[in-house]
Amino acid sequence: MSCCKKDVAAVMQQAFDMHKGNKDGANASYIPFLASVPSDLCGLAFVSVTGEVIKIQDVDYKYAIESISKIMTLGLALEQSGADAVHSKIGADPTGLPFNSVIALELHDDKPLTPLVNAGAMATVSLIEAEDKEQRWQKILAFQSALAAADIELSEDVNQSEQTTNAHNRAMALLLESSNRIYSDPLEACDVYTRQCSTLFNTVELATVGATFANGGKNPVSGKQLVSPENAAHILAEMMMEGLYDTSGDWAYDVGLPGKSGVGGGLLTIIPNVGALAAFSPRLDQFGNSVRGQLMIKHVAQTMGWNLFNSK
Ligand code: GLN
Repeated sequence: MSCCKKDVAAVMQQAFDMHKGNKDGANASYIPFLASVPSDLCGLAFVSVTGEVIKIQDVDYKYAIESISKIMTLGLALEQSGADAVHSKIGADPTGLPFNSVIALELHDDKPLTPLVNAGAMATVSLIEAEDKEQRWQKILAFQSALAAADIELSEDVNQSEQTTNAHNRAMALLLESSNRIYSDPLEACDVYTRQCSTLFNTVELATVGATFANGGKNPVSGKQLVSPENAAHILAEMMMEGLYDTSGDWAYDVGLPGKSGVGGGLLTIIPNVGALAAFSPRLDQFGNSVRGQLMIKHVAQTMGWNLFNSK
């Protein structure tokens, strides 16, 4: 696959112009703060593996990354414990179910199927080696900052909104405990998981995270090797299998690239050895994936011929 900055910028502008007026979907409302984010915001950014940046529209607006945090904490767990140790505790299989499904806990010998749904993500948090909850949280936050090549901060407002409405996730953490599939205090793991979802990124920072994974784990902005090439490949495989939840298969069929969505409206897509496209638009489809984000990225990927399954 190749990349020409001029072409990519023109195609991204085209994608933005085609879809900016789309008002389908709705902001997430089960986390009250997210319902208040201005729905018309829309941004698209590309960061290449050589650190070139292309920005369209609202790329400086900071929003909660929500589930996109799952790939970052997975990266930290893989680096700390090794891929085999992580995979022995958390699977790599698609659930075909909503991100907060309780059934996902029960399908695979009580082992969470994937780190990219809430159950597996809380188990992944609990695997991060630390003396206590605060140290675990600081390690996760520092890793998010390293991946973004920016100082990432927690939004107290988003965190407060989520911590007071996350009874479902707390219940799942306790179910994980009941089957010995969580490796720290379960409610502490849920607390840290909720914080990692409540950090704010802009769309260029999000694309920088993706460009790191597209670049064998080396951040193209800071030059730091943050995950090994082998672990970067594991993360992309998980994204391909589960990154857009129930519709991950449709995304693979249409786009053929690893993706990861968050209910804050972010969507990240990785083109290995080329770079990453990140989109932000708060209105979501019924599965929790950004409507305009999917449309814009699909247009760019298809027009550029960026599909891992293309054979010509
Ligand atoms: N914090 C959200 C939750 O746990 C993340 C969900 C998402 O982005 N899909 O429900």
